[in-house]
This record gives sequence, C-alpha cells and structure tokens, in this order.
Amino acid sequence: MSQAALAGDPFSEAPAVPREKLEEIFDDIKGHILYDHELHGCLNCGICTATCPSAHYYDYSPREIVQLLWTENLEGIHDAMQEKIWACAQCYTCAARCPFENSPGGLVMIMREVAIKHEMESAKQVLRPFSRVLLKVISTGNQLAPNMITREAFPDWGPNVSKVDAPLNILRKAIPVPTLHTIDTAWVVNLKTSVELYTIWEATGVLDQLESVDENLFDVVTDVMDEKREEYQDWLDDQDEDDDA
Ligand code: SF4
Ligand code: SF4
Repeated sequence: MSQAALAGDPFSEAPAVPREKLEEIFDDIKGHILYDHELHGCLNCGICTATCPSAHYYDYSPREIVQLLWTENLEGIHDAMQEKIWACAQCYTCAARCPFENSPGGLVMIMREVAIKHEMESAKQVLRPFSRVLLKVISTGNQLAPNMITREAFPDWGPNVSKVDAPLNILRKAIPVPTLHTIDTAWVVNLKTSVELYTIWEATGVLDQLESVDENLFDVVTDVMDEKREEYQDWLDDQDEDDDA
C-alpha cells in the first residue's frame, strides 16, 4: 500500500501519518531558503499547467502543487510527495509563464529535497533505477557515458536503438576535441576535478542525502572516492619529489 493512502484514507487499516509529522514536513518545505522566492501567491489560473509538458503525460499539475502549498493543505502536500512531484521535468516553463512570478518547478525541487530528507519511500523508488547514472555524476561530473548507451539500457528507443551499434570508439576519436576521445565518460575528467567535485558533494550535504536514500550506492561512491583521493595525493607527492630533485 502506498504511503499516500496513509495520510488521509479513512479506509486504510494502517495508521494515518501523524499531524506532527505532516507539520514537520511542511515546516521543512516552508523553511527552505528558496521558498519565499518561489511562491508569491496563486490566482489558480492554470497557466502553469497549460504550458507544463509533464502535465500532458502524467497525472500531474503544477497548479495543484502550488495550490496545496499556498493553502497549506498538509495531507495533500504529503500525498503529492508520494508520486506526483517526481513527474516534473524541471524545465521551468511554468516559472516563465506564471503571472505571480511563482516557480512551481522550483517548489517541486524543494519538496523533493524534503522527501529525501524524510527518507520517503517514493524518493528511494524514483532514484533506484538511476544508481549507475548517479555514480557517474558524483564520481566524474558526467551524467552519461557513450558506453552506457546499449540496446538493453534503452529498449524504449524502438527502431532507433540500432544506431547504438555504431563503432563509437572510432567515431569519438574523429572528434577534433581531445577530451572527447573516450567512451568511458562523456568527456575526460581529470583526477583533480573529480576530487574537487566529491568535496563539493560532501560539503553541501549531497552525500548525506544519498546515504539516506541508497546506502549501497553511498558505500560504492565512498570507495571510489577514497581511491581517487589517494591517487591524487600520490600524484601531488610525486610532484613535490620532482620539485625537490
Ligand atoms: S502558480 Fe501561477 S500560473 Fe500557476 S495557477 Fe498559480 S498563479 Fe496561475
Ligand atoms: S518545471 Fe516542472 S512543473 Fe514547471 S513546466 Fe516544467 S515540468 Fe511542468
């Protein structure tokens, strides 16, 4: 049974989400540093939903999300965090159109952060299929590498999937930009950059968030980065020795 049912379903046998928990979640959303920047009021005009690509394909409406927040509908907010907020494509068309200069996409991003903070099952489920991409982003700053594009990984490409059989190794070497002469990453990322990126993920709390939604992936990332840090330190030591010589 989804957690959505727990919030306000009178027929559910599971206990409803306690009021204190709903308030705690809303306080975290409202207390986010960007909240007042993203929400100024709402006419309920629906312009955001009319221009939202995700609203065309999913049971999702940015107008509904903004109304839930504006009217402080705590159960509705909790309900939306179980599934709907994960449908937003973060394109920010809504923000460009809203007459109140709201950013429904920005509000959704805040709600996602809070869903992760509260270790909601929806956040874990949404991120699970992307663990390989997450590992790539966190360890190299690249999202997708050419060698990750396989028939098995992209069955939804239909007939276009045949294009992935191209000899990418050779084709990439033909690109007149040396950092693109690889298929292991989208572009070559040097060791120092990887270590710096990792330090940013660490200092900004991204890794803490990762640990709360996917402990296994967190452990893998930590191992990869420990190795990279050691490798980078060895490189620095070698430089010092060369300078002393
Ligand atoms: S968020 Fe803006 S565009 Fe969307 S319904 Fe409210 S006022 Fe209209
Ligand atoms: S940012 Fe999200 S809510 Fe806004 S238009 Fe894009 S998909 Fe829709």
